Amino acid sequence: MGALPACWSSTSSCSKRKFSFCPMTVLVMVRPTIEMGFEMAEFVITPSPQVSVPVVGGGAFPVRRIYCVGRNYAEHAREMGHDPDAEPPFFFSKPADAIVTGGAPIPYPTETSNLHYEIELVAAIGTGGKGISVESALDHVWGYAVGIDFTRRDLQAWAKKAAKPWEVAKGFDHSAPISALVAASALTPPLKGAIKLEVNGETRQSADISDMIWDLPHVVAELSRYFELFPGDLIFTGTPAGVGAVVKGDRVTGSIAGVGSVETTIA
Ligand code: MN
Repeated sequence: MGALPACWSSTSSCSKRKFSFCPMTVLVMVRPTIEMGFEMAEFVITPSPQVSVPVVGGGAFPVRRIYCVGRNYAEHAREMGHDPDAEPPFFFSKPADAIVTGGAPIPYPTETSNLHYEIELVAAIGTGGKGISVESALDHVWGYAVGIDFTRRDLQAWAKKAAKPWEVAKGFDHSAPISALVAASALTPPLKGAIKLEVNGETRQSADISDMIWDLPHVVAELSRYFELFPGDLIFTGTPAGVGAVVKGDRVTGSIAGVGSVETTIA
């Protein structure tokens, strides 16, 4: 420590003296910092940018986590070879930076030859909580969007068979294109309405969000039993039947009546 400037040996007092001539003070004040006890530490690498989703009418919604519901529509559970009456829906997640906005193309992912689309209603949490009641669940939702839960179906099949986690099947880069968010205050809660997906203009998925096994309030309430929810969390609420493969060059569009539409191209 002897070779360092005198102020370095007493960092905490140095960082509190705003008008000190200590050169370290300047660094501490202008660089992004995180709280570490009573001292401020500099990030040692540049932090990743905050992921966000544009909001209809302006502004952006910062994304914290992406939760997803599996097998929340009976017909989809059946097409995947499962009995919806025997097994309730369940949760998995994607990393926040899997989000793709603005209709940007997504690259065909590596390590798969069976990339599937899944159109889904997305709820965006504005008020956090844990152990949220079904009755108050929608009070926690800031807004809604339409998302696509892209899936490496071949790796998911492998994971199921091998009793391995789903991360490589679900949590890959660019796997969650999403529409702009609509504020909950601007619409009636989307508990029913047509949900559909087209590939190159041809309808592949067509159902109604009222077909969900866990409706929106139950999704929020159930999820909050396992995880404390925080503002910025997104919940992909599951997909109806009709999932299938896309290839490079395909144009994928999806919509939910009263909520919006999402689009992307497989590049
Ligand atoms: Mn899904």
